[in-house]
Amino acid sequence: MAHVSLKGVCKSFGRTEVIKGVDIEIEDGEFVVFVGPSGCGKSTLLRMIAGLEDITAGTLEIAGKVVNDVPPKDRGIAMVFQTYAIFPHMTVRENVAFGLTINGVPKAEKAEKVAEAARILQMEHLLDRRPSELSGGQRQRVAIGRAIVRDPAVFLFDEPLSNLDAALRMDMRLEIGKLHQDLGATMVYVTHDQVEAMTLADKIVVLKDGEVMQVGSPMELYHHPANLFVAGFLGAPS
Ligand code: ADP
Ligand code: MG
Repeated sequence: MAHVSLKGVCKSFGRTEVIKGVDIEIEDGEFVVFVGPSGCGKSTLLRMIAGLEDITAGTLEIAGKVVNDVPPKDRGIAMVFQTYAIFPHMTVRENVAFGLTINGVPKAEKAEKVAEAARILQMEHLLDRRPSELSGGQRQRVAIGRAIVRDPAVFLFDEPLSNLDAALRMDMRLEIGKLHQDLGATMVYVTHDQVEAMTLADKIVVLKDGEVMQVGSPMELYHHPANLFVAGFLGAPS
């Protein structure tokens, strides 16, 4: 578990400012959802927390330490992407273990961690298959497994369910909620889907054009939207 803190965070690509002074506090073990329309800067924010994008201005702290210049692998985070980013030529076991390869974990410990991730995600029976033999939901579970084995203090999810059909999306949503309960890790989850945001979040951050419109619990936002944008965005059916 770790506290994540963004203070005055800005991001420009060339002369275009896409994140405009964002302040967000994410508590230990909290499930925080960044929500907002396409292009509002959700992925950019998440990628800055992950260390995949430089921060143009402002401060990012993870677990009480400024990490602006800390490389991704040393931030205690693991990221799950929208596209599964798993390797077609590797088995599920090898794909999940890949999360540990770069950290040079001993073989026995690696096997143990893969087994544990498989148990948590209920995919023990899939370990020897290749991605082509899996459903979309199972593939996404492999990607989540790869994050779990690294035992991160913070999980980052970038629209992990948007490539799945509606029924599967609901199943996986429940699984991710359960994963949060079981692991107690801090989770930051990006989506443009208001239903996902409302059902998963302890706290929602509503973004528009690189700015925070409102931060609050699903109930606070639902009952007391700060402006018409928030009201319209959360009220509109997906
Ligand atoms: P979201 O994830 O909310 O859809 P993004 O964070 O992907 O939004 O993008 C925010 C804005 O930044 C968009 O206008 C996008 O075009 C721009 N952007 C994102 N990445 C880059 C990049 N590497 N170079 C230039 N502009 C980018
Ligand atoms: Mg995005």
